[in-house]
Order: sequence, then structure tokens, then C-alpha cells
Amino acid sequence: MSFVPPRCPNPMCSQHTQPQAGFYRPRGFYYPKCRADFRVKGVPRFRCTSCRRGFSRQTFRQDYRDHRPELNVTLFMLLVSGVGLRQSARFLSANPRSVQDKKRKMAKTFELLHGNLCPRLPMGRGYLLDEEETYEGASIRPLTMPVLIEKETWFVVASAVGSIRRLAKAGSARRARQERDEKDGPRPDQSSECVRQVFATLAQKVPTGNILLHTDQKASYATIATSVFGDRLVHETTAGTLVRNTHNPLFSINTTLAMTRDNCGRLRRKSWLVTKKAERLHNQLVLFTVYRNYVRRRFNRDKEIDTPAKFLGLLPRNLCRQEVLAWRQDWGDFSIHPMSVDGSHTVRQAVPA
Ligand SMILES: [Zn+2]
Repeated sequence: MSFVPPRCPNPMCSQHTQPQAGFYRPRGFYYPKCRADFRVKGVPRFRCTSCRRGFSRQTFRQDYRDHRPELNVTLFMLLVSGVGLRQSARFLSANPRSVQDKKRKMAKTFELLHGNLCPRLPMGRGYLLDEEETYEGASIRPLTMPVLIEKETWFVVASAVGSIRRLAKAGSARRARQERDEKDGPRPDQSSECVRQVFATLAQKVPTGNILLHTDQKASYATIATSVFGDRLVHETTAGTLVRNTHNPLFSINTTLAMTRDNCGRLRRKSWLVTKKAERLHNQLVLFTVYRNYVRRRFNRDKEIDTPAKFLGLLPRNLCRQEVLAWRQDWGDFSIHPMSVDGSHTVRQAVPA
């Protein structure tokens, strides 16, 4: 299927936001050595009749300007399969640094993709929140990672990462290490701020109607939720001491957090993979979110590849791993829809069948 440019990629051009029919002229092809599928047939080139700038199909792709674009899909699958950056680099015969760069670029696209595909959530749904604890660099520098999911579909709505402060007993060796570590000032406690951020994202996606929220009994959740949702909030709590089986009302969030530890190598405790910088953990969580919501089936027992996003009516089917990495997503709902093969449908338009 030949590529149809949906708009001029130049954001300063009038054909970027309101493209008119025939805004471009074909300008031949180029033959990239690094892209096996286009080496022979060529990547089509175009010129905008308005701003006179040249562009190609590649300008719209997620792997625009990438070296070794053929590694991207495999790298994505490795990174959501618990494999670390160095081992992924060895497996792909790539430089660890370029693997890091690819991961960062992927996370940037996925954050936008999640925002574009899920601007709103249906009303009347229940949501569960819990926090996972890990650390950056050393266990004396703990991190918190709140994750919020939809109750029935297990759709990951939002997550955040922030530092927390847990002082050991005064006089202990651990406390001495912590005090040495804090010589430039105490470690900030961002737990409340992270939870607030996650709630604010939910409030944005569900702008009207009641918010049914279920959490454990940590007192700050009620305070923060009330300040974010106001009288829309219907809050239920479950004691953290309740046995964690399938009857526990927090079962689905407990299992989702267990999945993050299974899928994200850096959340495995006491391993070399542990996060060195909080921001990198956030990137990893974005990869997990897209894999969990749009690519992986909800439960192993679901017969079709029914993803959480499909159950919520956000997409008509699952996305395959190539599709989430297909088109760049930095033009909001003007970005090309991940299911569009020829580029002719944007996220805003009806999804192609
Ligand atoms: Zn233009």
C-alpha cells in the first residue's frame, strides 16, 4: 500500500494543521541501506506546495533518523520481558548506550501514544491505586511508584516515580550511611506529590461523574483524593493486612504490581538491574503501560488477544508490537493512527477497520 502524507510535517506551515487536498507533490524515492523493506522499492519523497519543504514517509515514522531501526521492535519486547539494558545490547549486538537512547526515544513516543489513544475514559468505572517501593542506586535511597488501574480491565491509567525518605534507627550503621548520603540536604519525600499527579491524570480523563476509588488504608490517599476529585469521590478502603488472595478487593492492583516486577528487570529486588536514576524507571513504566494496555491480552485465559484498551472501547483490536512503534505521536490527535498502514488516518479520525 502506498503512503499518503496526512499533512505537512512542518509545524510552522499552514498545511500542518489544516492540510488541503493536493498540498504535496511526489518527488521520487530514496533507497536506504539500513531498511531492508525499503532498500529496493524505496522510501517515497514529497514536497509541500505551501512551504516548499521536502519530506518523506520516514519523516512520519517513530524510527525517523534511527541507526539500526530493525532492532527497535525486538528491543521493546526484551525490555518488557525483564531483560536488562546491557543484556539486551549483547543480545542485539548493539552498543549499551544506543540501547539506552532507543529506550528513551521509545518511552517518549509511548507516553504521547498513551495520551493520544486514551484522552478520556468511560464514566462509571472503578479505579484501584497502590504504591510499589524500590530504590535508586542503593537501598538507602528509596523510591515510590504509585500505579492506578481500572478495576475490570486492569488498564494502567497512570503511574509516577518519586523519591521517599525512610530514616533507619538512630545510631545504626544504616542511619550513619543515610546521614553521609544526605550531606547536601535531606532526601525529598515526593510520595504525596506523585499520588496527586496520578489522581490528577485520572480526573483529566474522567472529567464528569463519580470517581469510584479503592485503595488501602494509608491516610494520605483520602486527603489527596478529596482535594483532587472533591465531592465526585466515592472512596473505599481495604486493610493492608487482609490476606492477599483473589478475594482481596485489591487483588488486581496487587497482581499488576507483581507484573511490573516480572516484566521490568529493574524492579527485581537486590539485582544489578536496579534503577540508577528515578527518571529511567519512569521510562520503563511507560513501556510497561503501553505493552500492558495495548499489546498484551488482559488475562492469559482470554481467548482472543483482547487487550485492556479493547475492553474499554478505546481501540477495536489489540495493537501488534510493530504498530506501537510505527508512527511518531508528537502531533497530538493529528498524529498518524498506529493502526493506519498507509498513514492516511490520524488518531482523531475514525479508526480504520
Ligand atoms: Zn508545508
